[in-house]
Amino acid sequence: MAEFTMELNDEQREVRDWLHGFAADVIRPAAAEWDEREETPWPVIQEAAKVGIYSLDFYAQQYFDPTGLGIPMAMEELFWGDAGIALSIVGTGLAAVGVLANGTEEQIGTWIPQMYGDASDVKVAAFCSSEPDAGSDVASMRTRAVYDEAKDEWVINGTKTWATNGGIANVHVVVAVVDPELGSKGHASFIVPPGTPGLAQGQKFKKHGIRASHTAEVVLDDVRVPGSCLLGGKQKLDERLARARERAKASGGERVKNAAMATFEASRPAVGAMAVGTARAAYEVALDYARTREQFGRPIIDNQGVAFQLADMRTQIDAARLLVWRASWMAVNGKSFTAAEGSMSKLFASETAKQVTAQAIQILGGNGYTREYPVERMHRDAAIYTIFEGTSEIQRLVIARTLAGMPIR
Ligand SMILES: Cc1cc2nc3c(=O)[nH]c(=O)nc-3n(C[C@H](O)[C@H](O)[C@H](O)COP(=O)(O)OP(=O)(O)OC[C@H]3O[C@@H](n4cnc5c(N)ncnc54)[C@H](O)[C@@H]3O)c2cc1C
Repeated sequence: MAEFTMELNDEQREVRDWLHGFAADVIRPAAAEWDEREETPWPVIQEAAKVGIYSLDFYAQQYFDPTGLGIPMAMEELFWGDAGIALSIVGTGLAAVGVLANGTEEQIGTWIPQMYGDASDVKVAAFCSSEPDAGSDVASMRTRAVYDEAKDEWVINGTKTWATNGGIANVHVVVAVVDPELGSKGHASFIVPPGTPGLAQGQKFKKHGIRASHTAEVVLDDVRVPGSCLLGGKQKLDERLARARERAKASGGERVKNAAMATFEASRPAVGAMAVGTARAAYEVALDYARTREQFGRPIIDNQGVAFQLADMRTQIDAARLLVWRASWMAVNGKSFTAAEGSMSKLFASETAKQVTAQAIQILGGNGYTREYPVERMHRDAAIYTIFEGTSEIQRLVIARTLAGMPIR
């Protein structure tokens, strides 16, 4: 087990500086253009692939860093560059983690390379769980997967929504109901391979922020996938369902209800780190502006009203980073989240990003309100952190129930 440390080692510093260079030289200069275009920034993803930032190897290396700081450090730097572009670069990771967590070695080896493609032909992947009537309440999911034993195929029907890279992905990972009696315990994940008939993009959403990241509905109409596309395989699924049915019987046959709350402690700090990146970016712009903008014959930072705002912004950002780093260290070192520390880190960092980016606009005055300066975009981008991967209300629910010793459902 690695001791908790806030000191980056030489290797981590080198990686951080390299990522920061990419964020400053490639991502940040492209941010305004792709925000306006509201399109996936394929050339930037390709640049990231060329230098090795868009690859499973890179994220796996960071993930297995025993200090736990690899992933938060990478997320903070990339999202410091720009949130929409960075999400286009790391969004495939959501689907890849779904396969890594539940797939067999063969599935991992077959599908993850197809999710990323290569530098000459980059691909993206999508993780499709949310539905129009099943957002926070994942147990209400309706997309159904039925096994056709004669053909050893699964037939999937339903509509997914809010899928990052939905419809433009080479590989879609789709969560579907295989036993409706078991609530979220009756869900399973499937690979939908490239070009599978019946999968189509529905509405592409025009968004408030992170507009360089593609978000869309995914419609599944009699989508047939081979049995080998069930993540983890049929035997493992049958065993898991049998255990869940036993437990449901023991609890008086009550339908098992289990919302999107329980299992995300380890992944939520990564979203917190994205929020820290956006907040830090806005704070830096505001600090620089406050030092150089003069009114009443002196820099505006000479006014306590402005300087104290900057002091609070920096304090909150540093506090958010500490919560994120602690939770990431706990996740990598197998600590149990007895106070929902992962949710805590995401809650605090995402609320900080919203607040700090709003303060940055205020410090830049009229300029802050225009698209000539980046803080307006950063504020729009920051709003997503309190919504996806569990809203702030859901984080509070998880923390409160954990503290109370109540079941999280
Ligand atoms: C840009 C973007 C990208 C996304 N990417 C993906 C993706 O790649 N894959 C994917 O599967 N999903 C994705 N999502 C979906 C995201 O995770 C959901 O939007 C989120 O979980 C909230 O669900 P909802 O939008 O249905 O809101 P709802 O669950 O309807 O919530 C609406 C409001 O009610 C509150 N609320 C709900 N239940 C409670 C409660 N019990 N107590 C208190 N308050 C409550 C919420 O906090 C919120 O304020 C994405 C969403 C967005 C906007």
